[in-house]
Amino acid sequence: MGREADRLEAQITALAAWISESQRIVFFGGAGVSTESGIPDFRSSDGLYAEKRRYPPEQIVSHSFFLSHTEQFYEFYKERMLYPEAAPNAAHLALAELERQGKLSAVITQNIDGLHEKAGSKKVLPLHGTVLRNHCQRCGKFYNLRDMLARPGTVPHCDCGGVIKPDVVLYEEALDTALLKEAARCIAAADMLIIGGTSLAVYPAAGLLRYFSGRRLVVINRSATPADRDADLVIQAPIGEVLSEAVARAH
Ligand code: ZN
Repeated sequence: MGREADRLEAQITALAAWISESQRIVFFGGAGVSTESGIPDFRSSDGLYAEKRRYPPEQIVSHSFFLSHTEQFYEFYKERMLYPEAAPNAAHLALAELERQGKLSAVITQNIDGLHEKAGSKKVLPLHGTVLRNHCQRCGKFYNLRDMLARPGTVPHCDCGGVIKPDVVLYEEALDTALLKEAARCIAAADMLIIGGTSLAVYPAAGLLRYFSGRRLVVINRSATPADRDADLVIQAPIGEVLSEAVARAH
């Protein structure tokens, strides 16, 4: 145990030193960043994907299901995908602090929960969309999360009568090309890339990482990832603790 703790200590010290030397850090994160905020990884085996339901979640969270079974989509979405009370954890806050210090140029996330924005991060690229934004399918009117949830009934309708849809990328839907391009640009310009809380199994993570040509690649994840092989530092520990400690020690 003592040796493990010493090892983690040395890794955090190294990460802190590299943060001190870096000016254009990019963070690329996934579901593991939000689990410490109490949001389950819905792709993990004990997550909601494993639950028995009339329809498999992959089908419910698809574009065609949204159109054909809007009521069931929203029942599932509101119950299992929205966590309006969830608060940012130490990882979100540390990344927002790095941006304030002018050291971090972007947070690229596979999460839809909006916790980076809640933590105060300004440059957030949510590759799979965000629950914070919603639009009327008919007139295009914008609704924030609170306004959307305040609409009566299971399916939220706009004043014009149109159905409101979350700006979340559903199965069968394409990712936002402009967002993808911007993510690639930020990664290409980064001097350090920190990958955290993701096994990199979800599209388009692996492809995006190929744009990185900076000095230091760091992976913080509880289990092994395909990026470990190329990484300068691999830390298998809780991401909130690692990032907050490293940012506190950096200068
Ligand atoms: Zn409308």
